[in-house]
Amino acid sequence: MPELPEVEVTRLGVNPHVEGKTVTELILRRDGLRWPFPANLRELILHQTILSTGRRGKYLLLHFHHGSLLIHLGMSGNLRIMPSTTPPQKHDHVDILLGEQMMRLTDPRRFGAVLWHDHADGALEEHLLLRHLGVEPLSDQFSPELLFKQTRQRNAAIKQVLLAGDVVVGVGNIYASESLFRAGINPKTAANRISLKRYQALAIAIREILAQAISRGGSSLKDFVGADGKTGYFQQSYFVYDRAGEPCRVCQGTIRHITQGQRSSFYCVNCQK
Ligand SMILES: [Zn+2]
Repeated sequence: MPELPEVEVTRLGVNPHVEGKTVTELILRRDGLRWPFPANLRELILHQTILSTGRRGKYLLLHFHHGSLLIHLGMSGNLRIMPSTTPPQKHDHVDILLGEQMMRLTDPRRFGAVLWHDHADGALEEHLLLRHLGVEPLSDQFSPELLFKQTRQRNAAIKQVLLAGDVVVGVGNIYASESLFRAGINPKTAANRISLKRYQALAIAIREILAQAISRGGSSLKDFVGADGKTGYFQQSYFVYDRAGEPCRVCQGTIRHITQGQRSSFYCVNCQK
């Protein structure tokens, strides 16, 4: 599943090819993916210029003068830039033609989404799918104090609070596991039992690990394809994620695997308290 770094890498990859470009055609090969496509989407964006790109959580945003297109890659989606004449394959559902090049959305499992937010409907941040999102982990709003304050009433395990996305957004399973390891926090620890000092270590770990993943070109999706057609998958060396039974790279203890909220967690009992 593409996590925040993959979406940001995708945005960085497509941005030079789409920013300032005008939509010359929109081809939808289905009625929708996870949700129906907006019925009048072609009329909305045809002959309109993409002013800039953005991202909120795992939503990639294309900003037009009158609204924004929200694209979610779901479980298996990817966006690529290619010549507009490239014949579609089975899972190529959406083509946004920009003259001689196009941006193509491929999504085998079809959990992705393409939605429109019109400026007439208010601020984009208030969109139904965006308004409940926590702060961006790489923004100035994200801080140890925020983690501390927002968890005082939360007795759920810290790993699940991170995954819930309402405090901080985009820290998915891999990055939550790795960040908690780096901060020395057991994933089962109740969020409201963690001190400000320990949240300082966690906030730094989250920022560093996400920034590192973005700089390496994304990591978590095996069939992630880069915007230029090259693979964007980077085989990272994890400390705990997916390493059940293997020795901890720090203390040589055995990495444990537990299930929390139907998601796998990996941690070291020695290094994480
Ligand atoms: Zn260890």
